[in-house]
Amino acid sequence: MIGHCLDAVASAKADGRGVVGILCEYTPREMILAARALPVCLCGGSADTIPSAEEDLPANLCPLIKSTYGYHVQRSNPLLEQADLVVAETTCDGKKKMYELMARTRPMLVLELPQNPEGPGALEAWRGQMAWLRDQLQERLGVRNTDPSLREAIATMNRERSLRRRLAGLMARPHPPLTGLQLLEFKSSISGQEADLAQYERAATALECPSAPPAASDEAVRVLLTGVPLVHGAQRVLQIIESAGAVVVCMENCTGVKPLLEDVDERAADPLAALAEKYLRLPCSVMTPNRRRLEQLAQLARVYRPQCVVELVWQACLTYDVESALVKAFVERELGLPYLRIQTDYSPADSARIAVRVEALLEMVRSRSAGGVAAR
Ligand code: SF4
Ligand code: SF4
Repeated sequence: MIGHCLDAVASAKADGRGVVGILCEYTPREMILAARALPVCLCGGSADTIPSAEEDLPANLCPLIKSTYGYHVQRSNPLLEQADLVVAETTCDGKKKMYELMARTRPMLVLELPQNPEGPGALEAWRGQMAWLRDQLQERLGVRNTDPSLREAIATMNRERSLRRRLAGLMARPHPPLTGLQLLEFKSSISGQEADLAQYERAATALECPSAPPAASDEAVRVLLTGVPLVHGAQRVLQIIESAGAVVVCMENCTGVKPLLEDVDERAADPLAALAEKYLRLPCSVMTPNRRRLEQLAQLARVYRPQCVVELVWQACLTYDVESALVKAFVERELGLPYLRIQTDYSPADSARIAVRVEALLEMVRSRSAGGVAAR
């Protein structure tokens, strides 16, 4: 995937098109595609860059932020090094303060994200940020970002979301043809690429065939994974869960289905308002209140029929950490499912301890199933 992304960046550069780094799912990739540029995800998933980051950042900070910043300090992410611009948002405190440090040496735009999505004026304010982003992209990339090009980009991203929903939907089967890890590996760091969409289409068509073989054993416990994103390189907890005899049938997080569940209205009279509406509805824990996350969990539990829920929280991620109390209560009381919270970072030091806790959870689910409480 990374090799293909580097090729795509090289070809965009040769073509005179821009490369725009993004760091969060609140960034409307449509706007970047409409400016003929490539939207490239720059979130860091490597433990190797963290020591360099800790020269500026506190050790007690989320590994995703530190890893991303470490790549910046080391200049070791070729996608970041080739980016003409980075677009970010005011999400969690750690990220937005880290952006100030990055902005000392890189061109950067930080969108001001309203934190109460249902609050008065929130949608209008966010629509204003969409208009500002469009103007800034036009000015900095020297490309006119017109309504027709924006509508075309919206259609492309809707198609990508729809294809990725089809792939994710395969996991609702009693015997899914993919593991959670295989599904995650379909995701690319660059969105809206025609070649990727064609591959998604081919894979979905092949795997939708009823005779596609199951990817996991009949006894595999169905797990819904929620919480923080599993960015490229940081899939360790997913691997531990599936190695212990489970299949992760749904990832509710930002690298899973969360950003795919809703599309943007292609025919809306005001495409900027349509974009603002879709993106402001994304239920990240930086929002307060974040009721939509629980509604989404209930909807996903109905579709994917998990037998338990695992919540992953990166070390020092305060928003997901605090919100986990609400999620635990909701999962146990409203969904009637066992819940396990795993807090970790990018170091493999606690892998054995996590595996023991996951095995205990799966054992408990199996004994509930044997007692007829849970069913596929
Ligand atoms: S979890 Fe929140 S801050 Fe992180 S990428 Fe998703 S929306 Fe952005
Ligand atoms: S995982 Fe938490 S602390 Fe880390 S970037 Fe996302 S919201 Fe911020």
